[in-house]
Amino acid sequence: MIVAIDLGTTNSLIGVWRNGAPRLIPNATGDLLTPSAVSMLDSGEIVVGRAARDRLVSHPRRSAAAFKRVMGSNRSLTLGDRDFRPEELSALVLRALKADAEAWLGEPVREAVITVPAYFADAQRKATQAAAELAGLRCERLLNEPTAAALAYGLQENGESRILVVDLGGGTFDVSVLEMFDGVMEVRATAGDNFLGGEDFNQALLAAFMREVGTPAGLPPPADEPPFHGLLRRQIEQLKQRLSQEDTATLSLPWRTGTLCWTVSRAQFNTLCEPLYQRIRQPIERALRDARIHPGELAAVVLAGGATRMPALRRMISLLFRHLPTQHLDPDQVVAMGATVQAGLMMRDAALNERVLTDVAPFTLGVEVADRQSDGHTVHNLFVPVIERNTVIPASRATTLSTLEDGQTTIGLRVFQGESRRARDNILLGELTVHVPRAARGQQSVEVRFTYDTSGLLEVDATALGTGAQYHLLIEGNPGRLSPAEIRQRLAALAHLKISPRDQAENVAALARAERLFEELLGEQRSAVGDWIGEFLAALERGDPRQIGISRALLLQRLDRVEPTSPFD
Ligand code: AMP
Repeated sequence: MIVAIDLGTTNSLIGVWRNGAPRLIPNATGDLLTPSAVSMLDSGEIVVGRAARDRLVSHPRRSAAAFKRVMGSNRSLTLGDRDFRPEELSALVLRALKADAEAWLGEPVREAVITVPAYFADAQRKATQAAAELAGLRCERLLNEPTAAALAYGLQENGESRILVVDLGGGTFDVSVLEMFDGVMEVRATAGDNFLGGEDFNQALLAAFMREVGTPAGLPPPADEPPFHGLLRRQIEQLKQRLSQEDTATLSLPWRTGTLCWTVSRAQFNTLCEPLYQRIRQPIERALRDARIHPGELAAVVLAGGATRMPALRRMISLLFRHLPTQHLDPDQVVAMGATVQAGLMMRDAALNERVLTDVAPFTLGVEVADRQSDGHTVHNLFVPVIERNTVIPASRATTLSTLEDGQTTIGLRVFQGESRRARDNILLGELTVHVPRAARGQQSVEVRFTYDTSGLLEVDATALGTGAQYHLLIEGNPGRLSPAEIRQRLAALAHLKISPRDQAENVAALARAERLFEELLGEQRSAVGDWIGEFLAALERGDPRQIGISRALLLQRLDRVEPTSPFD
């Protein structure tokens, strides 16, 4: 069985293609969405999902979220007394999803299709693959998120059409233009921004709150007061979500002996976020230009990612395309649903037999060259594209570079990703030195072959044509890349981590929610929550499963009564 996983910045989902249809699988607490958050309990056990998200407020130093934003970098995040790489935290989320699927399917799960932002670069894709490996999963395919969303859309629509997918998740933004005909789904162009997502809208709100209220009230920086800032970030998220429904929303936070209040209107929010909306426009325009498609030719605009719920974004899309985006697909689920289609295709499910999918490379890849001009002087640091962006993948292209000087014995090969004519303005992916026999300039050359596979991963091979010597370039220009030996080492370390048992998930989640509310509330409500936690802990201590179940149900009922209206739950 190949499972399909949407490993999101904020939430993750797992599903399968079953009996000719997509099926999303609930987690241990019965939800389809598992928050991509990890926390370490005082006992050292790891919890993932809703409990970990609640613990971001009550135990910020032992909890982490949004680590997808630093995938492919060598940043590490600290939980309690342990440092984790983003791949390891993602692996813990993947492991929890895998356990949910195994419990639901009643069979072991080893293979997965995992979605990634289309605009994820090589290092981020390889980090995602490494995370799968650390979770004990073989990643059969990395599937671009907007392509997955289009697959879900294509399941319901037949015939020829061109569609645009706008995917704004917690941390990334992707746009893809696709063409569907006779069961073929062809991605025509992709564009995006790896560092733009719902989180940035939170940051804009947070900065305005600090300017208008926090700084005047003498609030300390986040590092000095993590619990307060954990609470503040959660309230900012709620404020943003409320502004998707209402014209104004108010945040109120206990601080010292009083309460800090801040009211924001939707118009103010939109003004604060204007630069972000501008950044959303550019990739849309570029994807359409690259696909040579006029907005009027689009049959539908499909929205994916929770942040596409923002009304200003929907309005902008409607104005740009002169029709409303599709409403029938849930933006939180559409990527995971589409990924199950890909999993079904890979399992050669009969219901999907006639469907074919082609995708494209998101970035231009090329090499640096120096060019001798007719007047004899040499121009260095030029970028020569080998595989251009939006080339259909898999793709393999070669180029030949020759010596520039008499007697030159090496040719330095530098591989870049990007669109600028000057190599130094692009991202260096790796370099390699090829040895060539001494000869007159231009007499010796090297053939460089770039191969982009269907997961969007790059291989570079070079052949010195004079000697036939072959070289393979490992793309490890990025310091964040884990080597196979490091992966083995991290696997061993992860094997020693204690994972909170799945059958305790509901208890852990209930307790984490109660602890979070204890932080959030004040006065009588707070002391009541404290008493309820005490009662529940006593039931847990006694260990009678039936009594624990009754006590948990009572605790949750009571928490519902004091929970400030939260669009999360
Ligand atoms: P995803 O990564 O697709 O789960 O998207 C999560 C992002 O969507 C987060 O940044 C959320 O803040 C954002 N989001 C979810 N619901 C809403 C909403 N109703 N209004 C605005 N943003 C939302």
